[in-house]
Order: sequence, then C-alpha cells, then structure tokens
Amino acid sequence: MFWIALLGLANYLSNSLFRIQGMVALQLTYALLLAILLLTPRRQWPAYLITAFPMLIIVRALAIGSLSELTSLFALVSTITSILAATAGAAILSRDRDWVEGRSDQLGAWATAGFVTVVVLPLISASIFALVRMPPPGYGSTEYWLNVYSNVALAYLVLTPPVLRARPRQWRDLYRSGKLPEAIALIAGFGAFAALIFTQSSVLPLFLILPPLIIILFRVGFIGLSVAMALLVPIAVLLTGAGQGPFHAIDHLHLTGSAQKGADVHQALLLCRVFLVLTFIVVVMIAALLHEREQLQRMAQADRDIYEMVARQSGDMAFVSDLDGRIVFISPVAAQVLGLAESALSNFDWRNHIHPDDLGTIDAALQRVGRGEEDVDYLFRAFDAGGNELWFENRVRLSTATSKDGPRYIVGSTREVTARVLREQQLEKMAAVDVLTGLPNRRQLNEQSRLKWRLAARHSDFLSLHVIDIDFFKAYNDVYGHAKGDKCLREVASAIRKVLKRPDDFCARYGGEEFVAMLPGTDGAGALKIGEDICAAVRDLNIRHDASEYGIVTVSVGCSTIRPAFADDDGSLFEAADAALYQAKRQGRNRVVASNLRNLIIDANIVALPKRQV
Ligand code: GH3
Ligand code: MG
Ligand code: MG
Repeated sequence: MFWIALLGLANYLSNSLFRIQGMVALQLTYALLLAILLLTPRRQWPAYLITAFPMLIIVRALAIGSLSELTSLFALVSTITSILAATAGAAILSRDRDWVEGRSDQLGAWATAGFVTVVVLPLISASIFALVRMPPPGYGSTEYWLNVYSNVALAYLVLTPPVLRARPRQWRDLYRSGKLPEAIALIAGFGAFAALIFTQSSVLPLFLILPPLIIILFRVGFIGLSVAMALLVPIAVLLTGAGQGPFHAIDHLHLTGSAQKGADVHQALLLCRVFLVLTFIVVVMIAALLHEREQLQRMAQADRDIYEMVARQSGDMAFVSDLDGRIVFISPVAAQVLGLAESALSNFDWRNHIHPDDLGTIDAALQRVGRGEEDVDYLFRAFDAGGNELWFENRVRLSTATSKDGPRYIVGSTREVTARVLREQQLEKMAAVDVLTGLPNRRQLNEQSRLKWRLAARHSDFLSLHVIDIDFFKAYNDVYGHAKGDKCLREVASAIRKVLKRPDDFCARYGGEEFVAMLPGTDGAGALKIGEDICAAVRDLNIRHDASEYGIVTVSVGCSTIRPAFADDDGSLFEAADAALYQAKRQGRNRVVASNLRNLIIDANIVALPKRQV
C-alpha cells in the first residue's frame, strides 16, 4: 500500500510539477516502479502491476486536469509501455541480488545496471512513444525522440539507486555510526550549492558540481551520493525548465538540426539531462572502484585474521619484507613474543633485536632467496625487550606477489624454538661431558685442540699442553675398591681444574685416570709452573694411598709448549707431552717434566719431537 501510494504521488508530481511546455521533463514514476519491483519478491509483481496500471492512468488524468487522458490512446500505450519496460528492467537487474541489496557496488554490477537503465529501457520507451505520438509543435521528430530518451535514461539511472541505497536500514547504520548529522549537513549544503549553480547563467560553475559529490561519496558513502544526486536532478531539471541556469548559455548547438525558438528549453533540458547522466556515471565509477578496493582490503584483512588466529595458537609469526629485509608487514604476535608494545611493530627494525653474530646468517639467507632458492631455513638468536636471548627458526621464500620488474618481496614464517635449541644444546653438552668427573671428554678435547691450535697459530702465540696421569692408580683400585677409586678421580679432577684459572684454559678427562690440559698463551716456563702446581694441588688433597711409595695419591705430569704454525698438526704437541709424562714416570713419579723445552719454543714454526726413551 505504501509503495502504491508513493507511486501515485510520484506520478502526480511528474505530470504536474515536471511538465514543461506540454511534456514531462522528469519521469519519477517508472524509476520508482523499477526500484519497487527490485525490492519485492517476483510473485508479488503481478499484484503491483495490476493495481498500478489504473491508478497511474487516473492520477495522470487528475494531474493534467483532462479526463480525456483516461481513454487517450497515448496515455494507455505510454503507461503500458513504461510499466512493461520497468518490469523488463527489474527482471534483468533483480538477478544480481548483491547489487540490489547494496552488498556489492562493483564496477561490473554497475556497468550492467547502467547498460539496462541508460540503453535498454529508454530505447524501448522512446521508440514506442515516438510511434504513437506525433512530436509536439516546434519539435523535430529526432529532437522529440532524444528528449524522451534522455528523460527516461536519467530517471532510471539516477533515481532508482536512492530508493535501493537509501533505505531505512542504511539510515539507521549511518545514525549508529554517528555520521548522520554530517551526512545531512553535507547533502543539504550540496542542495543549496546546486540551486545556486543552476541559477547562474554561466557555464563555468557547472564544473564545480563534481568535487562536492566526491566529497560526499568519501564522507557518507553510496547512500550520501544517491541522495545528493536525487536532490540535484529535480533542482537542475526544474530550474533549467524554468529557463534558468548554465544550459541556456549554450547557444546554437543545433543538436538535432532544428533551431527553432520554441525548442530552446527542450534543448537546454536535453543538455542538462546528458550532463546529469554523465556526472552520475563518473561518480559511480569512482564509487565502484573505491568499493572494490575496500573489498580487496577487507579480504586481505580477513586473510590476516585467519593467519593471526592460527598463529596465536601455534605461536608462529609471519612477515613480509623486501629483499633488504625492510619489514612491510609483521604479525602482531611478534610483539607478544618479543615483549614489545604492538605499536612498536610499525617501523619495526628487527636488526636491533638480532644477536650480532647471527646478522650474517640472516643476510646470507635473504640473498639466497633473492637468487631464487625456494624455501630457505635458518636459525638465529634475538633478544626480547627484557634482554633475554631467544632462538628462532625462519623459513623464507619469494612472495608470489613479486613481479619480475617490480619490487620483490619475501614472505616468511618465524617460530620461536628456544626450548628446542636449549634441549639440543643440553644433549650435545651431555655427549661431550665425562659423566664421572664433569670434565669435558675426549671428543671435546679433540675439537678444542684443533681450535686452540688454529687460534695460537693465527696470533703466533704459545700453546702449552699437559698430560696428567695418577700414579699407581691400579694399585689404588686394588686396595680401596673401584668406588673409592672413582671418588678419588673426581677429587683429582676438581683439584686440577682449580689450578687452571684463565678463561681460555681447558681441561678434559682423556681416559681412565689420565687428564689433558691445554693452556693458550702460556710459555714453557709457565707450563712447568702450572705442572708443578697441579702436582702440589693433588698432594694437598692428602688422599691416603698405602700402596704408593709416597703414602698419598700423587700425579705425574708431562708438558710441552709450542708456537704452532698452520702447517703443523696438533697431534705433535700431544706426543711431545706424552713423551715427557713417560719421562716423569721413569724419574720416580709425583713430578712434572717438560719435553725439550728449549728447542720447542725458541722457533715459532719448528716442532721438535723428543725421542721416546725406553
Ligand atoms: P702408573 O703410576 O704407571 O700410571 O701406574 P697405574 O697403576 O696408574 O698404571 P695404569 O695407567 O696402567 O693404570 C690405570 C688404572 O686406572 C687401571 C684402572 O684400574 C684405573 N682406572 C682407569 N679408569 C678408571 C675409572 O674410571 N675408575 C676407577 N676407579 N679406576 C679406573
Ligand atoms: Mg695411565
Ligand atoms: Mg697411572
């Protein structure tokens, strides 16, 4: 009922208010009918159409004030034609429910709507009108046809969207978002501005129509744009029809070959309608592009939301960076992991957080990705806000968003693996440590030996090595048992360790009751002194050993010192010390012997191996 009443009102307005020189200048009725049909289910269409037809004829006769309208052929045919055209339009457009209900303002949807409203429907209407009605006096038939055509096109294109896009629900949303006052102020201001422009007799102000429309589009959206256009159209048509405004300033256009005086208003109206249709098309294109961009952004945001959800559960982070590692995006979980505020992630410079020793690893990985390697994995350490060292594992690859010539992006996922790495380190350490004494074992000794050898060679520095062996230890075991023997081993180990005070000093259990110490930067004299200290420290333990000629547990130490060169192998140093130990045993144990000290240290690069004495 409401719609039918509104339709009657629109028809009355069209036929009375917008009737200029005997012709309807703005056809509100059928644009409204099209919108009504679009908004109602198809099965209700027959009811609407059957009620609308007689009502429209009667209202038309009343508005014109001529009862003969009721039965005139033109009235009947034009009304039926218009109703059928609107129905045909509705049948085509109602298939895109997303467009009808305002969920989609994509360019494609609007292009279809534009084609139907500006091309198909007016072609039908204008052609049938031209068949059943002679042009009014003063018109060429083409001019008449063009006027009808532009009138119908303008109505359908510009007046249907406000009914679709500015429905109560949309107003309510606007109100809830607090934008309603601004919307009303902008639209009212635009109405006044339009009225001002269409009372000017210069063409130039016309160009000022577009900017405020675009501002309204940006600030209020499609609903604001629809309403502003719905306001602009009657203002423009009424004022132009009344002989006002810029379009009367365009003379001698000879659009249709007829330049008769009486047709001036119609020519101005024709121009006015074309202007309004084009203006609307331009703004709708902008609106549609905006809408598409917004939707893309929403989709991208939704993608990130999904990722974030997964990430929060797994603790993984994602990032996008350029090939130099400048972060474009990093998931907010990163802030949690690093103990930062989320705001710290904008302008995030990860280099500040990375362990300096691992910066090279990361740069190398980025370069590998840049060269086209598929998935590159690497481990690195970073510090959180509290300065704690955390381990991370990254997997990076080139983003599919990267084009050949454009900027290239890397996508990566980051997983915090501190617990795993520490566990692994622990295991490794356990594998490298002697369980009985807690000293590094022989495996680690081999590694350290190579390392210390290379370091000493590079710095052209001394390196001393001690081999320490407990005296008469087999006998100790025999007398006191293995348990006591083990205890003794532990005590000797810790006594040796206490003697070695420098951070670079290294001591390992070589096997059985033998230990090896390596002392970088210690010359021959120093090595001898340390050897004596070790012997003294073990004596000071004062562990009773009745089977020893000394009555307590003692050790013998062989040492040697060298200035290694790269070419020499670290085994020679050990052999020299071992030979010295053999000497110490032979000379009576509980002492230290340095092997061929003078020969060894005088020349940096020559290692003289002492002869094993039998
Ligand atoms: P020397 O003064 O010539 O070194 O005499 P020694 O008895 O110490 O000679 P040798 O090196 O042949 O003996 C090593 C003994 O050390 C053999 C074994 O009984 C003992 N031993 C080796 N490893 C362990 C261990 O892990 N625990 C215990 N309790 N004893 C060990
Ligand atoms: Mg031994
Ligand atoms: Mg021994």
